[in-house]
Amino acid sequence: MLLTTIDQIKTITVVGAGTMGHGIAHVAATSGATVRLFDAMHGASAAGIAKIAANLAKGVELGKVSPADRVATLARLVAVEVLEDACAGTDCVIEAVPERLDLKREIFGIVDQAAPAHALLATNTSSLPVGEIAECLGRPARLVGMHFFNPVHVMKLVEVVHHKAADQGAVMLAVALAQKFGKTAITVQDSPGFASSRLGIVIGLEAMRMVEQGVASAADIDTAMKLGYGHPMGPLELTDLVGLDVRLGIANYLAEALGEGFAPPEILRAKVLANQLGKKSGEGFYRWGADGKRIG
Ligand code: NAD
Repeated sequence: MLLTTIDQIKTITVVGAGTMGHGIAHVAATSGATVRLFDAMHGASAAGIAKIAANLAKGVELGKVSPADRVATLARLVAVEVLEDACAGTDCVIEAVPERLDLKREIFGIVDQAAPAHALLATNTSSLPVGEIAECLGRPARLVGMHFFNPVHVMKLVEVVHHKAADQGAVMLAVALAQKFGKTAITVQDSPGFASSRLGIVIGLEAMRMVEQGVASAADIDTAMKLGYGHPMGPLELTDLVGLDVRLGIANYLAEALGEGFAPPEILRAKVLANQLGKKSGEGFYRWGADGKRIG
C-alpha cells in the first residue's frame, strides 16, 4: 500500500543528477530527507553533490543558509552507483533523466521492481504524457508528475500532474512533498505541456523567430519582456538556462501533440546541432563563462 502521510517519506531517491536532478536532491535533503542520488554516467552523482555543496556555500555567504544546516544537508546526501540499490527500501523516487519517453519507461520498469510497494513515484518530465510513462508500471496509480523549475533550489513552483490512472492519494502526497520542499504546488491534468511548458514555450519560440527574422537582438527582446511585461528573465536568457536541447525536445513533442504552431524554428535546430545548448555548453543565444556568468 502507498504511504499515506508525508512524515512517512524519510528516504528519497533521485534518478538523474543533471541540471534538475541535483537541484531536486538539494531541496529534498534540505527538507530533512535522506537522499540517494543515482546517475547512469559514472561520477555524475558525485558531481551533482559537489554542485549542491557549492550552492549551499553560496547560501551561507548570502546569509540564507546557516553553516550548521549546510553541514547537516550535505550529510543527508549520498551518491549511489546502482539504480536497484538506490531504490531498495526507499519511500519515494523522483526521476529526472533526459526527456525521452522510452528512457523514462525503461527507468520506471526497473524502479517499479526495485522500490518497495509503499513508495511514491514521480517523474520530472516537462511535457511527456505521464499516463504513458505510468503504463509500464505494475501499479500505475502510484506515479505522478512532479514538474520542478530551474534552478530548483530557487524556483518556487511545482506542477503536480494527475493522469487518469493516478491515485488521488498519490497526488495529495506529491502536493504535500512539494510543500515540504518549500514550494507552491499547482495540480494540472495530464495534457501536453501541462500548464507551464505549453505557455512558456510559445513565448520562447516566438522570441527565437524574431531573432531569426532580425526583428531585434536577443538582448533587446529579453529586455522588452523584462521591462515591458515584468518578467524576471527574458525568454531567450531563460532558454539558455533551461537548455536549447531540452526546449527543442519539448517543441517537437508539442508540435506533434498540439499542432504546427509549436514547431521549432530553424535557429533552434541549428544551434542544437552545433552543440550550442545554452549555459551548460557555454553558448546558446548568449555566451557563458565557466563560472556560470554571462559574458556576451
Ligand atoms: P540533464 O541532461 O541536465 O540531466 C539528465 C541526467 O540524466 C544526466 O546527468 C544523464 O547522465 C542522466 N541519465 C541519462 N540516462 C540515464 C539513465 N538511464 N539513468 C540515470 N541517469 C541517466 O537534463 P535536465 O535538464 O536535468 O532534464 C531532466 C528532466 O527534467 C527532463 O525530463 C526535462 O524535460 C525535465 N526538466 C528540465 C528543466 C530544465 O530547465 N532543464 C526544467 C523542468 C523539467
